[in-house]
Amino acid sequence: MTSIKPQPGLMDIALYVGGKSHIDGVANVIKLSSNENPFGPSPAAQEAVKRSVHELHRYPSTDHAELRTAIAEVHGLEADRIICGVGSDEIITLLCQAYAGPGTEVIHTEHGFAMYRISALAASATPVEVRERERVTDVDSILDACTEATRLVFIANPNNPTGTMIGMAEIERLAEGIPEQCLLVLDGAYAEYVEGYDGGARLVEMRDNVVMTRTFSKLYGLGGLRIGWGYAPREVIDVLMRIRGPFNLSTTQLAAAEAAVRDRAYAEKCRDENTRLRAWLAEALAEHGVPCDTSTANFVLARFGDTEEAEACDAYLQGQGLIVRKVGGYKLPNCLRISVGDEASCRRVAYCIGQFKAGAR
Ligand code: PMP
Repeated sequence: MTSIKPQPGLMDIALYVGGKSHIDGVANVIKLSSNENPFGPSPAAQEAVKRSVHELHRYPSTDHAELRTAIAEVHGLEADRIICGVGSDEIITLLCQAYAGPGTEVIHTEHGFAMYRISALAASATPVEVRERERVTDVDSILDACTEATRLVFIANPNNPTGTMIGMAEIERLAEGIPEQCLLVLDGAYAEYVEGYDGGARLVEMRDNVVMTRTFSKLYGLGGLRIGWGYAPREVIDVLMRIRGPFNLSTTQLAAAEAAVRDRAYAEKCRDENTRLRAWLAEALAEHGVPCDTSTANFVLARFGDTEEAEACDAYLQGQGLIVRKVGGYKLPNCLRISVGDEASCRRVAYCIGQFKAGAR
């Protein structure tokens, strides 16, 4: 046994458990557990992946100039304030590495994304969990929790796994109210699903204490390739660029993301389908006696009577070849999070939940 000890706090990290992708003995599962785009990536992104194989003997770009320019043009942003990473996970990790550390605190909400806590602990900082109000981010509770030690406040808007979001006025109040040594991080992993919402990009441009993170894993259907980005004040970008790996994104990742972000027609089609099917699914579940919070993302949070019923339904769905997400780890043990799939998957999961509520076990 080695006598080398890891840094304090690291063994408090609970291993991140991703959505299940198979059920033993079941061939054709319907996976609705990881909030993926059921339609896959844009055909243009798929072509870019194929073309990239001819370049694999070369090192990739270190400055990601073409991808940053593409993101900037599409979203009307400034390219030199953009940083790209291995999923938005990497941007979250870099922010904690850069700004948190021993003796500092990192605030996240009660049902917030697990990586905030993991990245804070990995940086030897103390994660501080703040209550939500009715599963919605509560600005006053966050402001109350801020101390001299607070360095980062993470909120996802829309939030995962609740699907709820808060308005720009509330976000501005938060940015205004946090202490001056602190950065507000707006995680916009699901921002693309909200028509007309810029994820907080304009606020980043107006203030020096706000950062936005985004991903290609959700609407762009590229979760398997791992690409995310951040938009931040120039001083923050300058720090993050110094500490990230110089070749953190491969040639294939860069090519796919650039093609995906430029294919606006495909992205809009996927978003519109999600909006339509999400409304249908939430209504169908409500008719079966399973209410959902109003979701603004690509999943719904289905509420059951109690933990036992949610677990029994999860087991029943698995028996029918359907994988949804138990969110007990997020302290919502009576809920199941169900990604909005394609039409056939939505119909199937609604039908099976109806059967379960009618007494099937
Ligand atoms: N933020 C939130 C709120 C998420 O739900 C996820 C993915 N589950 C991420 C960030 C990370 O996404 P990725 O690393 O794939 O970009």
